[in-house]
Amino acid sequence: MKSLFDLLYPPRCPVCDGVRFSGEPVCCPACRERLRFIEGPACLCCGRPVGGEDREYCYDCAKRKRSYSGGLSLGVYEGALKESVLRFKFSGREEYASFYAEQFVERYGKQLMRFRADVLLPVPMHKRKDRKRGYNQAASFAKELSERTGIPVAEDILLRTRYTAPQKELNDVGRLQNLLRAFAVREEAFRTQEKDHPVKRVILVDDIYTTGSTMEACASLLLGAGAEAVMPVTVAVAGGYAD
Ligand SMILES: [Zn+2]
Ligand SMILES: [Zn+2]
Repeated sequence: MKSLFDLLYPPRCPVCDGVRFSGEPVCCPACRERLRFIEGPACLCCGRPVGGEDREYCYDCAKRKRSYSGGLSLGVYEGALKESVLRFKFSGREEYASFYAEQFVERYGKQLMRFRADVLLPVPMHKRKDRKRGYNQAASFAKELSERTGIPVAEDILLRTRYTAPQKELNDVGRLQNLLRAFAVREEAFRTQEKDHPVKRVILVDDIYTTGSTMEACASLLLGAGAEAVMPVTVAVAGGYAD
């Protein structure tokens, strides 16, 4: 029997946004075919596809200092996945997080567990944006990953302290400096996350990886607070200068 919730908010396919009925897979089989996930060699830092087996890092990561490594992403931010993520971000389709996490764990479950993370930290959004949208999509994705892996999520460790204006006009250095001021780590919460067990290994979760400057800002603050390793995990990664 359908619950009232299902009638009011029927599950929708994350690709075509069509209503799905109970018992059906949440993503239409034909739509699933349209989603292209990352296959083959990927950047050891951010998870973006790289041209060939001989390349360890993408163009962006090769020329910059990165405070994180081992990044994983479901797919390149283009085509059907891009359309889906845009609705996830801007059209209230928070429910897509469950499909993304299911697919993510199916592909990368082993790598996630091998990393032995203490915690999943979603990249926080400024309250002003959070309020407008109703949810932080990075946190929604992190919670769904947590349900499937048992790794706890903490939303009180990494905080957004100020609103950052769109940064297109800034160069790399300016963007990073701006972002370093936009986030903060609550060191007390960081040290005592699991009673007396300090947080050392962090999976940093976001929806889209673009230039990497948000990840770099958060990861360097976390390392400064005592983290040992930071692994970025995202739904989609912008192609950038991969080739
Ligand atoms: Zn569909
Ligand atoms: Zn990279």
